[in-house]
Amino acid sequence: MDGDSAVLGVDIGGTQIKWVRWSRRSGVLDRGELPTPRSGAPAVVSAVAELIGGGKAEAAGVAVPGHLSDDLRAVRLVPNLPGQWQGLRFADELESRTGVRVRLVNDARAFALAELTLGAAKGHDDVLFVTMGTGIGGALALGGRILRAGGDRVGELGHMICRPGGALCGCGARGCLEAVAGGAALVARVRAGGGRAGTPEDVVREAGRADGLERSVLEDAGRALGLVLGNVVAYSGVATVVIGGGVAPAFAFMKPAVDAELAARVRLVGAVDLRLAHLGSGAGALGAALVVAPHPNRINGEI
Ligand SMILES: [Zn+2]
Repeated sequence: MDGDSAVLGVDIGGTQIKWVRWSRRSGVLDRGELPTPRSGAPAVVSAVAELIGGGKAEAAGVAVPGHLSDDLRAVRLVPNLPGQWQGLRFADELESRTGVRVRLVNDARAFALAELTLGAAKGHDDVLFVTMGTGIGGALALGGRILRAGGDRVGELGHMICRPGGALCGCGARGCLEAVAGGAALVARVRAGGGRAGTPEDVVREAGRADGLERSVLEDAGRALGLVLGNVVAYSGVATVVIGGGVAPAFAFMKPAVDAELAARVRLVGAVDLRLAHLGSGAGALGAALVVAPHPNRINGEI
């Protein structure tokens, strides 16, 4: 492989599959997206194989919204896509259909890798990454490497409990951050309060119009997020937090409450640098491309 081979990054989201073709020297060569098939895993496998097999690149990274097996070839848990994913040898399946080298990566780690290498955290070594979407994900970089360990679970920020005994979370526990401040929870809470939001974007738009129900839901979500961030910052020692994902615009309404929670802990954690992601909704696909790009990989436990 020469120093500037094009690689493909594919990010499988709940509604869109985003892809990017990237080379180290030229950056993004082209990119696109297609709707995520909702009829089950085989349709998603076929759609991704078609993208990879199109002769666009000699290696492909695929970001999966879930946990991977320890050998990074199979899917262990995908909570938010329809169909049977558990145990699927996704990387092997894609390679045998396309002849292209394929690696899988957890989607939050793909986002973090892109922002750490090329985006908001470039030049920083110790960073907490938060992805705000339908749910809330996270990843942690220490010493310039994104942490990964057995079970592929490091960084499940959304399932840290901030309201003991609170709302039931998709993971089965109660009071998780995701059940208070995730995009789906924001919509559910506004609707429970008599509002009409259909999407997290509706909640953010309405909060921008008037100081009402939507804004108070976002402020309360900010208190929960601030509590969890304060805990993680205290535990990990990071001083930089990068916030991204499709629901990141909601953060503007959460930030005062997050700041207040962090200010209450300033003697221990010092000043925390909260910054928005730079790479937009293409960060996951870009990070997936970087996993197979010809440069040193920065995810712990991977070559
Ligand atoms: Zn949970």
